[in-house]
Amino acid sequence: MPDRPSKPQKIRQIPLRLLLIVPFVLQIVGAVGLVGFLSYRSGQKAVEEIATSLITEVGDRIDQNLTNYLDKPIEVLENHANVIEMGILPWQDLETVEKYLWKEMQIFDGLTTMGVFNEKKESVIVFRDKNSYFIRLSNKSTNYSLNTYLADDQGKPFKLIKSLDNYNPHNVPLNNPFYKNTKEANSLTRQILVAFSNIDTPILLAASYLPFYDRNNTFQGVLSCSLSLTDIGIYLKKLEIGKTGQAFIVDHQGLLIATSSGETPFRQDLIVPNNQKNWRANISIQRLRLNALDSRNLLTQKTANYLKDYFINFNNIQSKQLIRIKIDNQLYFVQVVPLQSAKYWDWLTIVVIPESDFMAEIERNTKTTLIFSGITLLIAIIIGILTAHWITKPILRLNQASQALALGEWQNSQKEHNLLETKNITEISNLANSFNSMANQLQISFETLENRVEERTAELMIAKEKAEVANQAKSKFIANMSHELRSPLNAIIGFSQLMLRTKNLPSEQYENAGIIQRSGEYLLTLINNVLDFAKIEAQKTTLNQRDVDLEQLLNDLEDMLHLTAFNAGLELIFDRGENLPRYIYTDGIKLRQILLNILGNAIKFTQQGEVILSVNSTVDEADGIDQIYNLNFSISDTGTGIAPEELNKIFEAFSQTESGRDAQEGTGLGLAISRQFVQLMGGNITVESELGKGTTFKFSIKAKLGQATINSPHILQQKILGVAPDQPIYKILAVDDKSINRQLLVNLLAPFGFEVKEASNGQEAIAMWEEWEPHLIFMDMRMPIMDGYEATKYIKSTTKGNSTAVIALTASVLEEEKAIVLSTGCDDFLHKPFKEQVIFEALTKHLGVQYIYEKLTDDNSINDGSKTMLLSPDLAILTAMSDGWRSQLAEAAIEGDSNRVMAIIRAIPDQESAAVKTLEKFARQFKFDEIVELLNEAVGRSPNV
Ligand code: ADP
Repeated sequence: MPDRPSKPQKIRQIPLRLLLIVPFVLQIVGAVGLVGFLSYRSGQKAVEEIATSLITEVGDRIDQNLTNYLDKPIEVLENHANVIEMGILPWQDLETVEKYLWKEMQIFDGLTTMGVFNEKKESVIVFRDKNSYFIRLSNKSTNYSLNTYLADDQGKPFKLIKSLDNYNPHNVPLNNPFYKNTKEANSLTRQILVAFSNIDTPILLAASYLPFYDRNNTFQGVLSCSLSLTDIGIYLKKLEIGKTGQAFIVDHQGLLIATSSGETPFRQDLIVPNNQKNWRANISIQRLRLNALDSRNLLTQKTANYLKDYFINFNNIQSKQLIRIKIDNQLYFVQVVPLQSAKYWDWLTIVVIPESDFMAEIERNTKTTLIFSGITLLIAIIIGILTAHWITKPILRLNQASQALALGEWQNSQKEHNLLETKNITEISNLANSFNSMANQLQISFETLENRVEERTAELMIAKEKAEVANQAKSKFIANMSHELRSPLNAIIGFSQLMLRTKNLPSEQYENAGIIQRSGEYLLTLINNVLDFAKIEAQKTTLNQRDVDLEQLLNDLEDMLHLTAFNAGLELIFDRGENLPRYIYTDGIKLRQILLNILGNAIKFTQQGEVILSVNSTVDEADGIDQIYNLNFSISDTGTGIAPEELNKIFEAFSQTESGRDAQEGTGLGLAISRQFVQLMGGNITVESELGKGTTFKFSIKAKLGQATINSPHILQQKILGVAPDQPIYKILAVDDKSINRQLLVNLLAPFGFEVKEASNGQEAIAMWEEWEPHLIFMDMRMPIMDGYEATKYIKSTTKGNSTAVIALTASVLEEEKAIVLSTGCDDFLHKPFKEQVIFEALTKHLGVQYIYEKLTDDNSINDGSKTMLLSPDLAILTAMSDGWRSQLAEAAIEGDSNRVMAIIRAIPDQESAAVKTLEKFARQFKFDEIVELLNEAVGRSPNV
């Protein structure tokens, strides 16, 4: 199962749905918020504009109306003065004046009082209180008391209401020296008065006074006209000033003139109960009037206070002011207008409107905007979620399908991508289609791939089988080939041995026979190498472990190679470690082969110097009771060496270095086989080399300690002269389809007195056996008509057959062959080509044949070369050599020239013969006397002598 895609390190992954919804919602929130904010701002701006224009308009209107209103008394007074001056109105006749004034009052219904005060201290005043007219008169008729009458509808006094004695307007009546002031000013004067209506409610009057003159322009008195400021309050109250806005008028001291709030411009605490007489005289107008700073109306009071603080003094406000002020956390628009159009009055009109009057609407709008925004937002989110869901659903499916595909779950992916029929969104629909076709394509490819893999696997299986068959065929071929090669080799080597055995053979024939034998053996080595390698390749090589006499093995090798080394002018040194165990349990044959190969190479590739074999042992590890030894071998030479680039190739099969190829011998298999053998024995082989200096091979093998073995190699090496007396004549049957091989056995055995007969196949062998009853049969295994296996089986199946020894003689080298052969009933198994000793030994083993051996001069050892040990057959070789050869050898020996001696000895055909060995050994050890002695002996035996 493929791995799930690993998560990228700590990168935050955002779900698609969130990615679609969040920006969408943010956009909506942003847009709605911005619109809300802008509308709020524009509302605010509009409010400011509306408020400003409203407040200005209100201020202007008040100013204009007030001007008209306040100018009215002046018009009236000037008119009265004109009428008097022109003599139209008899000003001295107060009754007429009173009538005139009453009429005037009817016309100017906005005025509250009209009066005339003359120099005679007479006065008449008509005044209005609510809808009634009152007349105040003071003259001679009233005895200069100020009588107040209610007027009838003709303007005549008909009911006396009040009477004030000794009224003299010239003398500061009611603390109001208007007469005196106006007379002195000689022009219009004005002032605020507190008057009391009939019910003693104070009212605020704006009174104007004008001096009047007769025709002579002589001052005659003062005219008065006043209007009620309460009416201004009523007018202000009627004005619409926003919703809760106010307008009020104050004078330069801050005293309230009128207000839209309905508040009376008097201080309540100073209102005195009606029944107290003469209270009026005790209070001053100033004390009675209310200052705006003390207003009971909070807005009036706070606005006035703010303005006072802001401008320090009301007098400082000389021009129109429009300001925004904050009272109790509320914003107010305030306009202050100095009353300029009205002459003589330094009043300020103050209009104040709270911002909330306008903002309420705006705030309501904002609230509505917010609610609508909220609803819009909610709808947007729902739409966003639905859209996101709508978009992401197919994508998620696509995702699941692709995951299923990635996990190789075709079925699931199929299920998923069948669901991917999103026709609504073009792009996703296209994507789904692409995915579907991709998945199909993938599945097809996958299936094709699977099929191909299956096909390939099947093909490979067939190829493998074929290879195995081919391999088997190869093994079979090699086995057959070796069989086919070894059979004739058997004859070649066998006959050459026989020839060398022949006495009195001319020396050239000896040489030729020697060459044939050596070539045959070299060929055999080659075949054996190829076979070994084939076995290794087929992994059929096994260890045949036995108890091995290591010392003996090394001695044999030393003996065997010493001569070759010596001939090559080299010194061969065997350096044995002190603790070397004598007996080890190992495959001695393979160890011998390894050492022989490496030592052989060392000698072959060394021109001068030495070849040293060092071996030591270390105890490796305890395996139960047995100790395991590491045997460490090192073979170094002073030869040509190996180039570094070739070093790692030399262990490959068929690889040779340049010098190897130059030598024109060898197959390049030796080291490959050696390495395999070493590895099989639990070790490894290494090489170090330097061109021109030499090479060192090192290897170690593991081995247990072995048991002592009984070796009789010397006996084997002894030459058999004949069969010992008093033995029956043994009947030997040689069975082989190749007559030459049969011939070899006949020729080998017949001279020794054995009776030998031949059979060329199994059938013949059986017939012969039945008839002739041989003691022993040398049975070739592969034969036409009937092979050795069948024949042996048959013979051994009979009782008679049990007493016949059957020895398989086969050119096959396969290990398993031995087992098969033995299982058919064969008593022994011998390889072709064989050495004659092996045949003789088998006869002893199976028939008990005794032989007469070549007699040794020293019975103990042939290696003890202190004395001559050559027996007659070996001397025969020396005898067989030419006289010239012998005298050359004798000469060289006498001269003590070992090299020449060696060269001459090499002419002896049988290099392996005991005579040659002995002679070479003597030469090496500079025992030239012994050589001369031997030569003498040979000459003594020579038939020529
Ligand atoms: P062969 O000896 O049959 O050629 P080997 O496998 O034994 O095959 O050796 C392979 C090659 O390694 C030799 O041909 C030679 O070139 C090189 N070689 C082996 N041993 C030595 C040595 N001691 N000194 C130099 N070359 C060597």
